[in-house]
Amino acid sequence: MIYLDYAATAPLDGEVLEAMLPYLKANFGNPDSVHAAGRAAAHAVGEARARVAQVLGVNPLEVYFTSGGTEADNWAVRCLAAGRAALSSVEHAAVLEGAKLREGGFVRIPATKGGLITAEAVRVALTPDTGLVCVMAANNETGTVQPLKEISAVCGERGAVLFSDCVQASLLDLKEIAKLCGAIALSGHKINAPKGTGALVVKKGVKISPMIAGGEQERGLRGGTLNVAGIVGFAVALEKAQRDRQKNAAHVKALRDLFEEKVKSAFGDCVTADGEDRIPSISHLTFQNAPDALLAKLDLHGLCVSGGAACSSHSALPSHVMLAMGKSEREAKRGVRFSFGKETTEEEVLKAVAILIECIP
Ligand code: PLP
Repeated sequence: MIYLDYAATAPLDGEVLEAMLPYLKANFGNPDSVHAAGRAAAHAVGEARARVAQVLGVNPLEVYFTSGGTEADNWAVRCLAAGRAALSSVEHAAVLEGAKLREGGFVRIPATKGGLITAEAVRVALTPDTGLVCVMAANNETGTVQPLKEISAVCGERGAVLFSDCVQASLLDLKEIAKLCGAIALSGHKINAPKGTGALVVKKGVKISPMIAGGEQERGLRGGTLNVAGIVGFAVALEKAQRDRQKNAAHVKALRDLFEEKVKSAFGDCVTADGEDRIPSISHLTFQNAPDALLAKLDLHGLCVSGGAACSSHSALPSHVMLAMGKSEREAKRGVRFSFGKETTEEEVLKAVAILIECIP
């Protein structure tokens, strides 16, 4: 099996697992219990919170642990700041669908053909009642990196809170991004932590109401017994991902460039959002003459990739990201996303190209 779907999920890191194990067995206490077992668990959560805060350059009390990116996105788009939200049209479904439950309503910000959300487009979308702007740091289908610095300046001028989904942005400098935003969302399983872990970071002074009621956890803003082992693992994974960011980025960039050079020479111009600023771990391709059920064919050859976002890969609907980029419905159903991780080898990339050539006439 060749796994080139790291944007969907990544394997658990050995060091992350080691750090978690004590909290799955011996130190199983509930961090809200006041006895010694509870205090040991609470101490581990406190340490993890401090480590996450340190990596992101924020205050530990600005970190709220969640069950992952979907929860953090929903929470942000529904409960951050009052008023209307302006959402980039290439956001993850967690933001686009979550916004339907926002009291103040929402508008969409159009993208360019390259999938970019320009600061000018944000400016045009803002109205006096806009309280929140949602623009992801890096797109999960095409890898396009958004100009958050310019967008942040526009939000600052107009008094709107900027929220950025940073789930796919672990190869970027998250500290720099956190500085530009009122809130950011993170997910553990994209960075070799377990599934079902993540965080919403909300800066001091930014108003947020609870989405999950029913407990005093997370300063009364997110009810539910904390996933202690998952939180400990998430902190270790985030630290590692940001510490090794440049090394990992160089590794996947070399492989991504090799991959794209080979596919372009076999199929011509097929790289979606080519020429845009992209994270180096994603290569999204659109084949004009791809056979039906290409993904199933690739799977039969042992190649694991996605058609756009993994969470919508069971639907026959066109990709909303590709539609927002002005692609036709036909094209928007034919995207294939290859994504590379620190575990990916050159041999796997070359084999993947050979399989593609075999599957596409
Ligand atoms: N946001 C983006 C950009 C994603 O790529 C994903 C997952 O694919 C999510 C949010 C959802 O994260 P999770 O799987 O942790 O719920």
